[in-house]
Amino acid sequence: KKNPLPKPKWMKLSVPGGENYVQIKKSLHKQKMGFKLNTVCEEAKCPNLAECWSGGKTGTATATIMILGDTCTRGCRFCNVKTSRTPPPPDPDEPTNVAEAIVSWGLEYVVITSVDRDDLPDQGSGHFTETVQKLKILKPSMLIEALVPDFRGDADCVEKVAKSGLNVFAHNIETVEELQSAVRDHRANFKQSLDVLMMAKDYAPAGTLTKTSIMLGCGETPDQVVKTMEKVKAAGVDVMTFGQYMRPSKRHMPVSEYITPEAFENYRTLGMEMGFRYVASGPMVRSSYKAGEFYIKSMIE
Ligand code: SF4
Ligand code: SF4
Repeated sequence: KKNPLPKPKWMKLSVPGGENYVQIKKSLHKQKMGFKLNTVCEEAKCPNLAECWSGGKTGTATATIMILGDTCTRGCRFCNVKTSRTPPPPDPDEPTNVAEAIVSWGLEYVVITSVDRDDLPDQGSGHFTETVQKLKILKPSMLIEALVPDFRGDADCVEKVAKSGLNVFAHNIETVEELQSAVRDHRANFKQSLDVLMMAKDYAPAGTLTKTSIMLGCGETPDQVVKTMEKVKAAGVDVMTFGQYMRPSKRHMPVSEYITPEAFENYRTLGMEMGFRYVASGPMVRSSYKAGEFYIKSMIE
């Protein structure tokens, strides 16, 4: 077996801080005494937490929340989430509790995401829809991104979520077209994911953004990345993000390559030239990285 690649110096972790961050953290922990809100930012010990939660120059604090439980019906080769064919049923009170908890923070932009729920008749789409609707009733100015599974390509599920009142419909293609079956669960594929993004664009009211993300360093070639970007753009997707794949444990697929900050910057420039509304690209970028700040900036420009 090959030894894992050594981590380059640019893959350093940042230290949490900032005034807004401290405030959000405080109110989050107050909330947790009642209902437990699962933030991906905390659970995944995300190195961007300070930047996202403090909101940057636009003051648009961003956090990512998990709904529908912590157990996925799928098993992708890069992902650290627990897997089961029969996860516990969703909590019917979750949309209300999550919405109330989120509103009580000083957040401006929330990313709501979930595991895949192939076991549910509606793939979890009803739960997403309800959570977005409840949030928008409680705080109409809240910017909401739903980062959804592929719903097995089910048009009704996509339509429901796309019309829920969200601001950004996100679904990740995860990797280039050529590596889909090597990286993602066998139930996922490139065409199905692009179809979901195209349907979402059609169903959603004008002004709703669609968004997708890929991880680099899985063995893709630069040429494959560019071709994938072209196909994503042709599917009407507004926003694309690029980050470095990081292996969660030895059981997961190894990192093939650490992409340099310069190469990330080149993809960002290329993406902007291709006409994406915004592109986030860098070694530490995750699909929700500073999403609120970038959203606001892209709406002003
Ligand atoms: Fe949270 Fe995403 Fe920002 Fe990480 S990148 S802190 S998961 S919002
Ligand atoms: Fe992880 Fe999503 Fe794949 Fe489930 S579908 S294993 S949550 S990446």
